Amino acid sequence: MGYEDFYRRSIEQPEEFWAEAARAIDWKDQPQRILDYDNPPFRRWFVGGTTNLCHNAVDRHLAERGDQPALVGWSTETGQVRELSFRQLHREVNTFAAVLRSLGVHKGERVVIYMPHTVEAAVAMLACARIGAIHSVVFGGFAALNLALRIDDARPAVLVCADAGMRGGKVIPFKPLVDEALSRAGHPPAHVLVVNRGLAGEVPMQEGRDVEYGPLAAQHADAEVPVEWLESNEPSYILYTSGTTGKPKGVQRDVGGYAVALALSMWSVYDVRAGQAMFSTSDIGWVVGHSYNVYGPLIAGATSILYEGLPTNPDPGIWWRICEKYGVRTMFSSPTAVRVLKKQDPKWLDSADLSQLKYLFLAGEPLDEPTADWITNALGKTVIDNYWQTETGWPVLTLMPGVELKPVKLGSPGLPSPGYRLRVIDENTGADVGPGEKGVLAIQPPLPPGCLSTVWGNDDRFIASYFSHFKELLYSSLDWAIRDEDGYTFILGRTDDVINVAGHRLGTREIEESVASHPDVAEAAVVGVHDEVKGQVPVVFATLKRTDTDPAGAASGMLQTVASQLGAVARPQRVYVVNALPKTRSGKLLRRSLQALAEHRDPGDLSTLDDPNALEEVKRALERGADAGT
Ligand code: ATP
Ligand code: MG
Repeated sequence: MGYEDFYRRSIEQPEEFWAEAARAIDWKDQPQRILDYDNPPFRRWFVGGTTNLCHNAVDRHLAERGDQPALVGWSTETGQVRELSFRQLHREVNTFAAVLRSLGVHKGERVVIYMPHTVEAAVAMLACARIGAIHSVVFGGFAALNLALRIDDARPAVLVCADAGMRGGKVIPFKPLVDEALSRAGHPPAHVLVVNRGLAGEVPMQEGRDVEYGPLAAQHADAEVPVEWLESNEPSYILYTSGTTGKPKGVQRDVGGYAVALALSMWSVYDVRAGQAMFSTSDIGWVVGHSYNVYGPLIAGATSILYEGLPTNPDPGIWWRICEKYGVRTMFSSPTAVRVLKKQDPKWLDSADLSQLKYLFLAGEPLDEPTADWITNALGKTVIDNYWQTETGWPVLTLMPGVELKPVKLGSPGLPSPGYRLRVIDENTGADVGPGEKGVLAIQPPLPPGCLSTVWGNDDRFIASYFSHFKELLYSSLDWAIRDEDGYTFILGRTDDVINVAGHRLGTREIEESVASHPDVAEAAVVGVHDEVKGQVPVVFATLKRTDTDPAGAASGMLQTVASQLGAVARPQRVYVVNALPKTRSGKLLRRSLQALAEHRDPGDLSTLDDPNALEEVKRALERGADAGT
């Protein structure tokens, strides 16, 4: 079956399509009803079916592939490599589950996991899934305030943390951050379970509240904890969106729908099957880490590699050597990571035997054409941009080489995944726009399996955030899009990243693409800055490929490029050349802070900022004055 037939079937006969897909996982009780859409926009998949994510990710594979590596934790920070077979993983998960039980964690209770990207963290997640506890992983790079906010929203019974993380060779003690977060939190957990990797020396422990994992694990070393069978629609986890645009939302995921969507995507999108290996360079703190470091590959019976460290340490060949060692078939990374590698000597790409590698998938932010072009040529593999959100849990737009590899169109994440009825809507009229016209990307509900069930503890916010933007009941992605004649969709940026110049609405992404097409430019960020006359004007912050390029010359070149490509209206008012752009820890541009600084306002919540120097750079550039424009 080709892609078109596959997709059409998922839309025209959704219940048949998903009932068949559901056979890829184990159920304790079979679903009674495939889809319940009696209470829009809420929907329930596989109603009455009972299953368990941990069973499907671990136990199910013991008989056939017990000795195959399940998880590989490769850390170039600690210098350690940990490989766990499915059998060893099963053992560790049972022990962890028994420890959680001994701390009084029950089905439906929350467990916050604040750990670096390690095998231990994945074990903690699977242990929660095993006993029906709801995990909420908080990215280990977040500061105490982010952690406190998430704790108060999730109200966990237990918080699991590591003694420390490491970044660029530096030890970052976690426990003091946890203590600070708990002193701020209104709903602290009864216990903090500390997984001590021996990185941080003496770990401060609070009597009665804090317990060390090691001694407890020894007590429960042979424990067998039965799987808690959950109704398909019970919550499996909460994951907060990255908060690029405001207060993070607690995305609530179900059990059965998620497992089925992941199982389907593993073969159809990522073309990975049991016994093969997948390497996602994300972090368990993000949705990609949940879906394609932990649950997806394991449900498929594949080996998953968890990498802790920088892509350039000990040298920029490290990822490719890992691909060679494990015969990785599919790699998943982000445009930001590729841009980092692009700055290195291309010889590193030839330093490993990549004959097993077939695909590189990239997601999380727009994949600009120069970056896509570079990596496609340098790697000589199929590079696939895929578009999705924390909310959706798996790709919305992608190519599906496991079904049929349609041609790659640079700049587009491709075609809809099964079950996604995508529409592009005019924000004013609410009508569908035609091919080549810009609108808001929307999903016609019911949302397919795998997508969020609701916002944790807040059904009203679920409706208000996602389903209240149009006359019709539609899920708004809050991203601009254009669909071409062939059905390929192009993402043009977020609906709140719009610049209104004298009544013309311009997407920052379009201007950024245009600036980035200038040969001197490495990366560009465009923000709308208040202007007395025009309302707003576009202002550019750009980094250059080479340090010896004249900034003023490059900056005026950028102005001309935009004016000739997009017209005089879009011509930026000012261009600032900087050495670095402020980004979140997940690699997303912090446009909100850039805009605030350019308007001489407070940059706001900077807790997700990756590199404080980048912000200082911007401040200095603003003081110094523009390199072009007025
Ligand atoms: P918040 O919703 O809290 O502001 P966020 O949207 O940054 O945070 P995520 O769910 O991690 O949190 O990111 C999803 C968004 O990332 C998408 O809505 C889109 O704007 C962007 N994105 C993801 N993949 C792509 C892609 N392939 N091309 C373009 N944009 C992408
Ligand atoms: Mg979002």
